[in-house]
Amino acid sequence: MRAMLELPKPLNVLILSGHDPSGGAGFQADIEAVGALGAHGAGVLTALTRQDSANAYDVWPVAHEHFAAMLDTLLADMAFAAVKIGLLGSAEQAQIIANALSQRLPAGTPVVLDPVLVAGGGGTLAADPVAAALIDTLFPLATVITPNAAEARRLCGGTDSLDACAAALSQPGRWALVTGGDEPGELVVNRLYYGGDCIRRYRWPKLDQGFHGAGCTLAAALAAALAVPGAANDIPAAAARAQEYVQDALAAGFAPGGGRAIPNRWRRGQAKAASRR
Ligand code: PLP
Repeated sequence: MRAMLELPKPLNVLILSGHDPSGGAGFQADIEAVGALGAHGAGVLTALTRQDSANAYDVWPVAHEHFAAMLDTLLADMAFAAVKIGLLGSAEQAQIIANALSQRLPAGTPVVLDPVLVAGGGGTLAADPVAAALIDTLFPLATVITPNAAEARRLCGGTDSLDACAAALSQPGRWALVTGGDEPGELVVNRLYYGGDCIRRYRWPKLDQGFHGAGCTLAAALAAALAVPGAANDIPAAAARAQEYVQDALAAGFAPGGGRAIPNRWRRGQAKAASRR
């Protein structure tokens, strides 16, 4: 009889995010990124959306009683080593998530929160009350928040300096990884802040397409990287690992329809940072 190959059991990553029918962003992006990094993604959809590979047009939240029941059932069954939160469907969901995570997850479980506000194509993904609930209720639970430059500016009231913004969004106990893929310049500069201080800047060659789903992929990859035991003790290293994965996926990206290209999340290459400091 052939011996069974003993592979380590994948760690579970809890994913709370929205459905994107194009498969570029949202829950599908999260599941793919987490799976490609060797973890098991499981979770609850926050919302259905109407979108294509170019833009988002409608967000239809999952009813909060259904959302709460699904999350409750899942958390009663499975242990999670990390959490990724993306698009929120409603302000109520923020409270349901906060209650569930604080009651059911061990203290110190890494939580990556991607504050999804506006689609790359310009469509609104979070109305003001939802954005407010995200900030008031979920930011305090986050280990790392991962806004892009536009989201970071909106979250801190439109200030011009991205560094001032990143400093304001990070706190003692909360990291902010502010991505710069949507900023002008030859390099993408991603800033990692903690407690108001810049801890590290990561520079990457800028690829010539505006991608759909890059932010979701990064946040999910970071959650998978942080699920590894001990990884949360070195957030800059986990953030580097997640960015390397995303850079590879972007370099191999493809356009599934008539809109923007999406990351090829199953492709593993050899991304090289433009510089490390
Ligand atoms: N749709 C969903 C469900 C998302 O979670 C996100 C995430 O940011 C988006 C769309 C927007 O993706 P992008 O801004 O990369 O187009």
